[in-house]
Amino acid sequence: MAASVDPVARIAALRSELERHARAYYELDRPEVPDADYDRLLRELLDLEAAHPELVTPDSPTQQVGGAPDTAFAPVVHTVAMMSLHNAFDLEELRAWHQRVERRLDGPTLDRFAVELKLDGLAISLRYENGQLVQGATRGDGRVGEDVTHNVRTVADIPETLTGDYPPVLEVRGEVYMKLSAFARLNQRQTDAAKVDGKAAKLYVNPRNTAAGSLRQVDASITASRELSFYCYQLGYVEGGPELTSHTETLAWLGTLGLPVNDLTVQLSSLDEVEQRIAAAEAMRHELDYEFDGVVVKVDRLTLQDELGADAKAPRWAIAYKLPPEERATRLLDIEVSIGPSGRATPFAVLDPVFVGGVTVATATLHNQDQVAAKDVRPGDMVIVRRAGDVIPEVVGPVLSERDPNSTPWTFPSDCPVCGESLVRNEAEAATHCVNHRCSRQIRGRIEHFASRAAMDIEYLGEKNVDRFVSLGLLDDVADLYSLDFAKVLALEGFQEKSVDNLRNAIEGSKTRPLGNLLFALRIPEIGQVNGQTLAAAFGSMDAIMEASVEQLSAVDGFGTVIAEAVHGWFASDAARDMIARLAAAGLTMQAALPVRSGEQTLEGRTVVVSGTLQNFSRDGAKQAIVERGGSSPGSVSGKTFALVVGADPGASKVTKAEAAGVPILDEDGFHKLLETGRLPEAGGSAD
Ligand code: NAD
Repeated sequence: MAASVDPVARIAALRSELERHARAYYELDRPEVPDADYDRLLRELLDLEAAHPELVTPDSPTQQVGGAPDTAFAPVVHTVAMMSLHNAFDLEELRAWHQRVERRLDGPTLDRFAVELKLDGLAISLRYENGQLVQGATRGDGRVGEDVTHNVRTVADIPETLTGDYPPVLEVRGEVYMKLSAFARLNQRQTDAAKVDGKAAKLYVNPRNTAAGSLRQVDASITASRELSFYCYQLGYVEGGPELTSHTETLAWLGTLGLPVNDLTVQLSSLDEVEQRIAAAEAMRHELDYEFDGVVVKVDRLTLQDELGADAKAPRWAIAYKLPPEERATRLLDIEVSIGPSGRATPFAVLDPVFVGGVTVATATLHNQDQVAAKDVRPGDMVIVRRAGDVIPEVVGPVLSERDPNSTPWTFPSDCPVCGESLVRNEAEAATHCVNHRCSRQIRGRIEHFASRAAMDIEYLGEKNVDRFVSLGLLDDVADLYSLDFAKVLALEGFQEKSVDNLRNAIEGSKTRPLGNLLFALRIPEIGQVNGQTLAAAFGSMDAIMEASVEQLSAVDGFGTVIAEAVHGWFASDAARDMIARLAAAGLTMQAALPVRSGEQTLEGRTVVVSGTLQNFSRDGAKQAIVERGGSSPGSVSGKTFALVVGADPGASKVTKAEAAGVPILDEDGFHKLLETGRLPEAGGSAD
């Protein structure tokens, strides 16, 4: 049985906790807990106060707007109070608001709503006198805000001078926010600066707090560097101006004065339409270049707004429908390390499962050692987990106020959790690796990659089978595939004659894959799909590649010394040579297919690079046409390139390189002529 809670004590505890969070959020721009947790506490307090109205006091967080203004800024007394908004957390609460509004309204019916996105930033009031911006103030506690005029002037979206038919005095309210692209640029700058200093980057956590913090700077040049944006959504005090009848009409008028208004605001005529709009807004939540955490529904007619009025905290004629939270706090149970197919060791958070961003999250990557250190998250901490849209869940950071004082920073394990050998971190790299070639995770990784579609394309050998065969000792490396004991496979649970036949045929079929595929399949450093084909075409056989010197390898079009040395180094090892010998003995293709040469050999010995989309050729078709005429077509431009053919959207680096190296650049017409004649078209004619 639940112990009955003393409402007086619980209300006092909730108020003090909420006040602490409000200070961190509004005054320091550094919240300690996600909004969803703050909202949950506030809701509990609201419910308790509703049940015990005698305990409501004017200083309760349920009756207050925002936080105390910072004395670093001059105070600005708002002529018209800047209020908050009441919230609805589901459709039922939205409908209850609608009913309350209808009940209050005597006479004219509720027939129009303005529905806007609730941008996540910081409320601001701008004052224009005779069309000139004279003051910008934060909301503060709703009555007195902070004078941030010098900062507001640095926001590009905020006009210094109004256009059109402006009134003598106009106060307009809106949201200063940070676009996601600006936020990404800011964090990129932080990362770049940290690299120069050789320190871990101090990254900003989210655009909302960064926008708020940026606007409340004493030094306006810092604000200016943050690329803030602005939308307006409300009138404050006005002297003069036209007779306005609705909120949407007001917004349209503000637009004519040169003030930015959000073009996703709609006017709707029923609650059904409002609900549909909310669903539509939710669907576009991650398609815009800014964050919004809800949808604001406003009674559109201004006469009805006046009739409804406001309570201590917010107007009755509007409600903020809150979208499901994308940040939640939960317990970090442990930090574990997983080993990837190439041996990379990645730390990840094991979380007390939490529902966030529409899914239950139980684990989240922590990327690498530096990231864990920068966030300083420790097993046992309460942490903030974020999942926005389809983005993978992320641990934002710890809730420091709830940290066990005896906790110590997490340290990266010294040994591989799979094979027990030492993990190695290359000083220059962020990643840590298990370098034990015999680690079973890496053995599986190599075989999975070998069998993958782009490599040897062995159907029926999925990850699960590889896992089983390796753990049963049936496979130890990729060459073992070709001497797999199918009798033993047949004896395994789940295998029948048919499935074993399928697997046998698939493995057999892989022997005929081209040499380029095999080179890619072997996980030779620097050799991806394209380089595999280039290498095969350049040397013609595995033997020739194995015998090639670094100089010969680096002479391959598109290769440099880095690739050449990596390839040479790989083939120099006995283990690699043994592997190749076993694969050759098993009958795999070790020769490059001779290019099919048909037609006239107009491009004999020439390299022609193709970039961008051509109208009459696919990418492969263009390459084939070059090879058929005796030429080659590598993936990059060098001084040896005969010509670069460009279609729509060509790679900028190829074009720049060609220009720098004096390589002729042809369009598709020129390409046709080149194929036909082997000659480069010249302005007004063609010559070799
Ligand atoms: P609010 O943010 O819920 O709503 C009012 C504000 O919405 C306005 O001041 C305005 O800035 C903004 N807004 C955006 N688009 C608007 C539009 N189209 N029309 C009108 N207003 C629009 O209210 P609030 O009182 O400022 O703050 C409550 C929010 O702050 C909640 O989301 C709460 O979770 C969060 N909060 C979090 C913590 C924390 O510790 N994490 C602490 C305090 C508050």
